[in-house]
Amino acid sequence: MRDSRGEGVEYLRISLTDRCNLRCLYCYSHGNKLSREELLSFEEIERLVRVAISLGIRRVRLTGGEPLVRKGVEKLLARLSLLPGLEDISLTTNGILLAKFAGKLKEAGLRRVNISLDTLNPAKFQWLTGRGRLEEVLRGTEEASGQGLNPVKVNVVVLRNVNQDEVIDFVRFSIENRLSVRFIEFMPSVGLLPWEKFFFPVSLVKKEVGKYFSMEEIEVEGGGPAEYYRVEGGGIIGFIAPITCSFCSRCNRIRITPEGRVKPCLGSDYSLDLKGALRRGEEDGAIREKMRYAVLCKSSSHPFEKRVSFARVGG
Ligand code: SAM
Repeated sequence: MRDSRGEGVEYLRISLTDRCNLRCLYCYSHGNKLSREELLSFEEIERLVRVAISLGIRRVRLTGGEPLVRKGVEKLLARLSLLPGLEDISLTTNGILLAKFAGKLKEAGLRRVNISLDTLNPAKFQWLTGRGRLEEVLRGTEEASGQGLNPVKVNVVVLRNVNQDEVIDFVRFSIENRLSVRFIEFMPSVGLLPWEKFFFPVSLVKKEVGKYFSMEEIEVEGGGPAEYYRVEGGGIIGFIAPITCSFCSRCNRIRITPEGRVKPCLGSDYSLDLKGALRRGEEDGAIREKMRYAVLCKSSSHPFEKRVSFARVGG
């Protein structure tokens, strides 16, 4: 499926819920949550993925909110992994429930996992996430690797005066645990931390890493918008710069929100209702056209017209 810029779009991110078991200061919003009826059912998700595959989608990522708080995720995964044409299913999680679920997820067909972890300091972790315990995420990370989920990538949102001083600790974490760590720029969002005050460019993170480690740029399959480097000692680190280095021209993804709207871009306000179409009994062909239209609406820059609710859109 090609968008109006001629770029191939083959990656779909689906947010399973707007609920989360953490209260991250920069992400969580305390507004009303969607009811069960408002959420896409697993049957509806499966049907949308089938239609998306017929348009050329080859990879699906489940996200949220926190996808593991939605009951039966492993059942959804098992259904999706049987769909012909789908080459890759992955998950983005905060890792709190991962130690419990990693085995079941792997068995159900999950290949790889991204874990969000912004600090390696237990007290800071609790402060930043409102309620989480760092050791649960570390156990989840170990269990994911132990179950053979591969690769395990750790995503770090870099926040000025919060965790910018932990960059080198995270590089060591990557080396010691043989996993990729990706540093991501903070985007304007609905949480409590004002973007202007906490934004920190990843170019400065890269410079800091370069002071202590030699770095060799590498290609990573399915690497998307990240730039990857192997650091001495064997760690792999990535940089994702949605703010300072717009990668829209390389963006290959669309998103479906928990209430079933397809969104061409995280940073734009535009979306199209698919759940209504499903529940009105529209044919696959009509749903396909809506998805195709959303892809055509992908633009060559992301405007961040409003602060994004990551939990609602699926970060
Ligand atoms: N709960 C899951 C998790 O924590 O990975 C999935 C959803 S969470 C919204 C997905 C990712 O979005 C997390 O890595 C989180 O750090 C990131 N995120 C949330 N708000 C963000 C922001 N304002 N800028 C950049 N990334 C953000």
